[in-house]
Amino acid sequence: MSAKALCRGLFALGAIPGILAALDSSFFKLFEIIEKDVVIVGGGAVGSHAAIRLKEDYGKSVLLVEKEAILGGHVDTYYDKGTNTPRDYGVQVYFPYQDGMDFINRFNLTLEQGLAPRGETTTKYVDFKTGKELSGFVPPDFGVQVGAIVQMYNVLTSKGYDKMVEPGFWNLPAGDKIPEDLLMPIGDFCKKYNVSEALPRMYESTGGGPASRDRNFTNVMTLTFLQSFSPGWMRVFFGEIAFYHIQGGNQQLYDRIQTRLGKDVMTSSVVLASERTDTGVNLIVSGLKGTKIVKAKKLLLAVPPTRENLIPFDLNAEEAAIFAKPTYGRYGTAVVKHASLPKGVELRNMPTSAVQNPYAPFLDLPHILSFSSYGNDTDLFSIGTSGNPYLLYGETASVATAQDSINKMAAAGTIPASKSKIEVVEYSDHGPGGYAVTAADLRAGWMSKFYGLQGKRSTWFSSNAIAIDFSTQLWKFNDEVLKRMIEQW
Ligand SMILES: Cc1cc2nc3c(=O)[nH]c(=O)nc-3n(C[C@H](O)[C@H](O)[C@H](O)COP(=O)(O)OP(=O)(O)OC[C@H]3O[C@@H](n4cnc5c(N)ncnc54)[C@H](O)[C@@H]3O)c2cc1C
Repeated sequence: MSAKALCRGLFALGAIPGILAALDSSFFKLFEIIEKDVVIVGGGAVGSHAAIRLKEDYGKSVLLVEKEAILGGHVDTYYDKGTNTPRDYGVQVYFPYQDGMDFINRFNLTLEQGLAPRGETTTKYVDFKTGKELSGFVPPDFGVQVGAIVQMYNVLTSKGYDKMVEPGFWNLPAGDKIPEDLLMPIGDFCKKYNVSEALPRMYESTGGGPASRDRNFTNVMTLTFLQSFSPGWMRVFFGEIAFYHIQGGNQQLYDRIQTRLGKDVMTSSVVLASERTDTGVNLIVSGLKGTKIVKAKKLLLAVPPTRENLIPFDLNAEEAAIFAKPTYGRYGTAVVKHASLPKGVELRNMPTSAVQNPYAPFLDLPHILSFSSYGNDTDLFSIGTSGNPYLLYGETASVATAQDSINKMAAAGTIPASKSKIEVVEYSDHGPGGYAVTAADLRAGWMSKFYGLQGKRSTWFSSNAIAIDFSTQLWKFNDEVLKRMIEQW
């Protein structure tokens, strides 16, 4: 039996978690042992940044464990066959936050202002539930929406809420002192401050992301909402700061990081089991390059702390109680083709009710937000999809939602009928959307309890689920995590 199969078997039997300490040294001789200062799990924006900073700036030895074949997480670039044109279909842009952009500048890449070039498109508003194009729908005035976002930014900054949430929640007051404004639903916050005209733009810009948890977007808690539409990002919206993409595709940053880290990365690998103590961690890591025992002084968990991701990490009672609380839906993106989809057109999903109330363009779950053509010279379209429950709304369910939307549009005569099935050129699982606890849990101190875990059992946490969800802001959050980790050394 291979070492990998042995570990899988033991894990399936529930034999591994918690018993590593009890195994005698002959078990460990079965595997190569890798010793490092820090083992990082998750090679998205956070884990990749941490690996480089720890190795190059703090002189620590690292191992980065990533389950996919490449680094980057939510960054996805598809290179069009034939023309090799890069098509970003995950993270689109980077914007300056403190000195966050300096990280990109370490890799000799060219930043270009604005979005990556994409062919011209016209937009059609279609209710994907009926398949019918909306007649008489007038999108809300752009200037009015931006004005409302400016107003919202002014409220947040004048009350000091930006400092409580950006780039993470280090300065959030203790549970019972968290301002009620941050705990109320975003719809109520907008009503209270007379900025409800901001809602459609904010919904669209977050890809309905936080809505993957709550059916009604306006019920998403303001604090959770700000994670994906932060004060920093608002400044981009009203043109105070510029935003950039990487020439040649955003994925290049992570390809360069992977090259630079070389053997310090294990891709296509996952942690099967762990033992974490105050003096260090032991992990069993299994992947294409076999199964290894990794011994490290510190562990950085740079994956969303979902219950699914935490199964191999021998949670104690304190941790299990904290991680039992959050709820979350699932988000995915893809590049697709279908004979019925019109080139040069963006088919935007819009509920029929938006004809009457264009300021409430919120969709039920599951949904595809839009089929967005990359232009007249290509048959490629990007989609974003949200649904729940988390475990069931993977690629198969997302593709079924997309196919259903196409079928309905064809049946309604909005697009030509075709017997062909949707072709998924690339799909990317973006994991949990709207990772959050209730206002009651926050008042009871959930956030301080979570942040209080930092450094315990040699384990540190950094991820978009517990900070502001933009690359440059996450890198600054990460800087603080790493600083504290090094101080604890
Ligand atoms: C559609 C979309 C568009 C976005 N656009 C932008 C944008 O334009 N600009 C911007 O700044 N931000 C954008 N964001 C926000 C984005 O989430 C963050 O910028 C950032 O990329 C998140 O990084 P992360 O490392 O926290 O998470 P992730 O990118 O999710 O990284 C986590 C990594 O861990 C890996 N992993 C997960 N589970 C395991 C496991 N059990 N074992 C090993 N590895 C595991 C995953 O494969 C992944 O590589 C966007 C997000 C989405 C969903």
